[in-house]
Amino acid sequence: MTENGGLDDRYVAAFDVVRSPARVDILLALAEQASANPDAPALSFSALHDRVDIDDSGQFNYHLDKLRDHLVHSTDDGYRLSPRGHEVAGAILSGAFTAGEDRPPEPLDQSCPYCDAEVEAAYEQGQIVVECANDHTLFTSSIPHDLATEASLADVLAAVRARARFNLQIVLEGTCTYCYGAVDWSVTHREEQPEPVLYEGRCTRCGVGYSAPPNYAVLFHPAVIAFFWDQGVDVREIVAWEIGDWTVEQTVVSEDPFRLRLVFAADDGRLTVTVDDTASVVETVETPQEDSEPSA
Ligand SMILES: [Zn+2]
Ligand SMILES: [Zn+2]
Repeated sequence: MTENGGLDDRYVAAFDVVRSPARVDILLALAEQASANPDAPALSFSALHDRVDIDDSGQFNYHLDKLRDHLVHSTDDGYRLSPRGHEVAGAILSGAFTAGEDRPPEPLDQSCPYCDAEVEAAYEQGQIVVECANDHTLFTSSIPHDLATEASLADVLAAVRARARFNLQIVLEGTCTYCYGAVDWSVTHREEQPEPVLYEGRCTRCGVGYSAPPNYAVLFHPAVIAFFWDQGVDVREIVAWEIGDWTVEQTVVSEDPFRLRLVFAADDGRLTVTVDDTASVVETVETPQEDSEPSA
């Protein structure tokens, strides 16, 4: 089928286009122009040539031609990035393809919901990892190296919080955030762990794995959002590893069909949420808060 022993040539061509430093230089010059002059994002041939480090205009024209149509549009005002060109320039600028040092653990001003030990955040092998000293992993998120190492870890976590929230919604609906392949979900039982089950997803195209504890998987269901909102809590402010503070029960009540009962508690009420094996909410019931304090 293909010349490279089964590898589709289109996949190689996708990286070939930005293999040369000259083409990266052109893309980044156009990104800088769009950023600095949003009303005039295009550059003429000569203005663009002046911005990049290629003396020979034949060479410059050759590389520009390789980018044209797909990543760079030629307009009446000059050359500008196409929407896909912005994606590629953004990926390069984010450091998504840049390798670098890990970042040692730093304490966050929070305690583990399962054991009260201090919570630490680190950057390891391309992932932000939030865990306690007793190895309770509370949150992981794959983020570009430059972003993870250029700010305080607390600021990095704040920067990725919304993205983690949206990515979770996308993958729970069955679409991989890396390759747009289909994600299959299953339930993993964890007898020795504080949470009885974990939802685990696997992309059927690129193979990347996802996981979500039940209480975080349902946090953005409309009934859960409304319950917390009525209690004066905006769920967008709850970070992934704090949701345990609001959860008083997670119990598997049926194996076939699989049903998990989750109980959230806030000042004046409790919300009981029944979830199936794909993290879909089957039923929600709100009741007044019991007299006893919720155990955090
Ligand atoms: Zn812990
Ligand atoms: Zn994928």
